[in-house]
Amino acid sequence: MTQAPGTGVISSWDLSVGVDGPGTRFVVFTAGCPLRCRYCQNPETWRMRDGRASTADEIMDRIAGYRRFISVAGGGVTISGGEPLLQPRFTAELLSRCHGSGLHTALDTSGLLGVRATDAMLADTDLVLLDIKSYDPATYRRVTGGPVEPTLRFARRLAELGRPTWVRFVLVPGLTDAPENVDGLARFVAGLGNVERVDVLPFHRMAAAKYERLGLRFPLAHVAPPDQASLDRVHARFQAHGVTST
Ligand code: SF4
Repeated sequence: MTQAPGTGVISSWDLSVGVDGPGTRFVVFTAGCPLRCRYCQNPETWRMRDGRASTADEIMDRIAGYRRFISVAGGGVTISGGEPLLQPRFTAELLSRCHGSGLHTALDTSGLLGVRATDAMLADTDLVLLDIKSYDPATYRRVTGGPVEPTLRFARRLAELGRPTWVRFVLVPGLTDAPENVDGLARFVAGLGNVERVDVLPFHRMAAAKYERLGLRFPLAHVAPPDQASLDRVHARFQAHGVTST
């Protein structure tokens, strides 16, 4: 889809606390994603054609209405999706305008299209939320349908640029929880130097009803969320590598 400068396609926007970066966030969910993660909570964002055209001006006006609310206690704006780097110019404009106006900015991405993020865009990004859905390439492909290497390359580039990053890892029993997968990710993250923390997100099935509404099959409907013991085991592995996990 060709886009005029300053326009993009979004799925929705929302306010969130504590899950999309520090503090209260104004979150823009861009439309379109090249991956198909088995546990995706936002299948309505997958196809760009299901989104609605929007301009950066419109979104900035909307953000302005919440500015005081999100500015307290270190909140800000998060560009999420879908995959924001599918619309790099639009994403760059939003990040630049928010950053330029003094708002804390975060970019939530799988990193698959990390080459589309310019250094200037990343300089306008106060925090990258990098979803590394697995370290082992075969597991990554099983989870997402895509390759892990572009994400790992992007992670290394963020480290070279010294961009503050939170890594996010969804723990799915029987899918991502193999000790060698977790250890590989912990070792990789420990070597980067710019990752402030790893968020270990327990898989859940809350999106199942959404899939049903959309006429889609939820591929992990039969998988139970991880128990506390397996979460504790995974945190211990990150901590053994000197990585802060939450
Ligand atoms: S990258 Fe995100 S939006 Fe895309 S399929 Fe995976 S979880 Fe869903």
